[in-house]
Amino acid sequence: MSASVIDFVATEARFGAHNYEPIEVVLARGEGVWVWDTEGNRYLDCLSAYSAVSQGHCHPKILAAMVEQAHRLTLTSRAFHNDQLAPFYEEIAALTGSHKVLPMNSGAEAVESAIKSVRKWGYEVKGVPDGQAEIIVCANNFHGRTLGIVGFSTDPETRAHFGPFAPGFKIIPFGDAAALEEAITPNTVAFLVEPIQGEAGVVIPPAGYFKTVRELCTANNVMLVLDEIQTGLGRTGKLLAEQHEGIEADVTLLGKALSGGFYPVSAVLSNNEVLGTLRPGQHGSTFGGNPLACAVARAAMRVLVEEGMIENAARQGARFLNGLKDIRANTIREVRGRGLMLAVELHPEAGRARRYCEALQAKGILAKDTHEHTIRIAPPLVITSDQVDWALERLATTLTQDLS
Ligand SMILES: *Cc1c(COP(=O)(O)O)cnc(C)c1O
Repeated sequence: MSASVIDFVATEARFGAHNYEPIEVVLARGEGVWVWDTEGNRYLDCLSAYSAVSQGHCHPKILAAMVEQAHRLTLTSRAFHNDQLAPFYEEIAALTGSHKVLPMNSGAEAVESAIKSVRKWGYEVKGVPDGQAEIIVCANNFHGRTLGIVGFSTDPETRAHFGPFAPGFKIIPFGDAAALEEAITPNTVAFLVEPIQGEAGVVIPPAGYFKTVRELCTANNVMLVLDEIQTGLGRTGKLLAEQHEGIEADVTLLGKALSGGFYPVSAVLSNNEVLGTLRPGQHGSTFGGNPLACAVARAAMRVLVEEGMIENAARQGARFLNGLKDIRANTIREVRGRGLMLAVELHPEAGRARRYCEALQAKGILAKDTHEHTIRIAPPLVITSDQVDWALERLATTLTQDLS
C-alpha cells in the first residue's frame, strides 16, 4: 500500500468511531459497475453499496437530475409544498401499484415509520387495546440500526449493551409458516419480514412460504409488511421480490436503490388504511420528501425501467448463478441467489470469507463477506454478460485456492 492509502486508513482509524471494518481500499471514483481507488486501480463493484447503487455508479441521468434540481431548490421542509413531491408520489405509486406513500430518508426510518403506522392502524382500525399491539418479526432479520429495530434483532453483536429495548415484538423462525400461524394473536397488527434475508447471507425461504404467509395475514387481519429495501427495485430480477411469490404486501418498504446511491431516499408504501391513520403533526422528517430527494428518486426509478435494468438483473443473475454453480471448488458449501442478489457460502474449514474477499480485491473485484463464511455478490444491475464472465473467471481461480 502506498503512503497515501495508509494515511486515509490511519486518519479514519484515529478520528472515526470504529463501527465498520472496511476492506483496505480507498475509493475515489466510480462509473457504472466500476470503481477506482486513489492509485487508479480499477475494481468491479460486487457490493453496490449493499444494493443502493443498483443503477451503476454516477449514472449520468440521475446525476443530471440531481444537479439540475440542486440549482433550483433543495429543501423546503413539509411546512410548504414543493413541485417535486406530487410527481414523485404519482410515479412511485404507478410503478409499484401503491395507494399511499410516506417519504423518508434512510431505510431504518422507513422501517420505524412502518412500525408506527401499523401500530396506529391496529389501535384505530383493527381495534387492538391501546398499548397491546404486537408485531411479529423473523430470527436473523436485518431491518436497520435504530434502537427500535435492534431491539428485535437476534444478532447478539447488534443488540449487546444497547438496551433497554421497546416491547411489542415476537420473533419466529424465517421460512416457517406454521410458526407464524401459532404466533398470531388478536393483538397482532403486523408481520414484518424480508422477502429474502440479505444481511443474513441471502437466505431464500422455501417455495410457497409467502403464499401461506399472505393467506394467514389476510385471514387474521394482520398487515404484511415486506421490507424490500434491499430486494426491491429490480435487484432480484423483478421490480419487487414479492412478484416472485405472486403476492402483494399491505405495506412495502423501499430505500437504497430508490436514489441510485446519490442521496438517502426511502419510502413506506401502503394501501389507504395504514398510512391513512397518520394525521398532521403525528409523524414527520425535516428532509423527508424534499425536492432534491424527489428529483433524484424520480430519475433513479425512470432509468431503472427505461434502460431495462430489471430484465437485465434477471438475465445476468441467472448467468452469474449458473456460472457460480459450475465452479468446482472444495471451498464452496452452497451457492444461492435470485437475480443479482447472490451469495457463495464457504465450508467453515475453508477459512474466513474475508480472506477470499481480500484475494478477490487483488484480482480486481470488490465483494463483502457476511457472517464469517459467506461472500455476498450483488453487482450493479447494469452489468453485462462479458463482465459477468470476467468476474466468474476471477471467482473460480480465487475459490479453488485454499486460504484457510
Ligand atoms: C439496508 C437495509 C435496511 C436499513 O437501511 P439504512 O438505509 O441502512 O437505514 C433495512 N432493511 C433492509 C432489508 C436492508 O437491507
